[in-house]
Amino acid sequence: MDYFIPEKVLYEKKIIEYDLGKKLFERYKNMDIEMIPIEKHHDVEFIKKAPDEKFVEFKKYLVLGIRKSLQLSPNKLSADFIVPFTSSGCSAMCTYCYLVCNFFKGSYLRIFVNRDEMINSVKRKIKQVGEKKIYEIGSTSDMVLENTITGNLKWAIEQFGQLENATCTFATKFSMVDDLLDAKHNGNTQMRISVNPDYIIKKVEIGTSKLTDRINAANKMFNAGYRVGVNIAPIILLDNWQDMYREMLEQLSNNLNPQLKKQLFFELIFMTYGYANDTINSVALKGVLNVFERDKMCPKGRGKFCYDLNLREDAAIYFKDLIGHYFPDATISYIV
Ligand code: SF4
Repeated sequence: MDYFIPEKVLYEKKIIEYDLGKKLFERYKNMDIEMIPIEKHHDVEFIKKAPDEKFVEFKKYLVLGIRKSLQLSPNKLSADFIVPFTSSGCSAMCTYCYLVCNFFKGSYLRIFVNRDEMINSVKRKIKQVGEKKIYEIGSTSDMVLENTITGNLKWAIEQFGQLENATCTFATKFSMVDDLLDAKHNGNTQMRISVNPDYIIKKVEIGTSKLTDRINAANKMFNAGYRVGVNIAPIILLDNWQDMYREMLEQLSNNLNPQLKKQLFFELIFMTYGYANDTINSVALKGVLNVFERDKMCPKGRGKFCYDLNLREDAAIYFKDLIGHYFPDATISYIV
């Protein structure tokens, strides 16, 4: 059964020229879901004109389109290249979500049906660089969520499984990985399970999977032969953050497969928060926990804030110590 059933589907007419587009179009039409034709997935007039309060309603929509820009861009953190892949946006509503800064109230889930063109872009890049590199396929969405609708993550994993010199990577806050366990990954895919303390997941990461379910998903993927990492993201420095994150790391340490703990890698990402988040949260998600504490943060680029350097440095030391204590064999790939 689908994890996410949209209330309305907005679609570019040309999607039916693609197998996946046709399949999705027929599926939702047969479910009697309202189907609304649109010209361009990124430029929907009635959504642009709607008040910001409609954010939550729009999150229940699904947009089907064709991705035009297929240019890979370089990256220096979790991957060597970012691949513009099969989705953008998300049905969840994490109150700090970076997508809101880019798409504002249009950060609902969009699925692009021209997946062959995307994997061909990757193949061209592999040929061009000629050495082993890591390719991030989930930088603008959550691929595990998308996979419940399209099967595209399993498909991508099997595509990468046949490639030389390429590792595919993605981070997720969802636990629906069962479909991926028998994929022929050939050791060419790694998953980063994104975690936060339960309190933050419940209050802030609205619509995502529980921490225990994410931990189980990490174990399942490891048992299926995938390389697995933990992405602590975003780190939110609420008043009792030390206790919350210590308890979370203890929970991870107690419940992750001991073999996985030996090869684990961590990524630590401090929260960035935008005016756009503040605007949407204040009108569309009234009463949610406010994670934007201005006195702890400083400007970071246009309309965005990050934690003050001193606070971040102290927190980074705390996290390094904790990880060293609970995961003596693990590595920390980066802290940003
Ligand atoms: S799960 Fe990721 S993409 Fe979805 S709302 Fe949360 S931060 Fe945004």
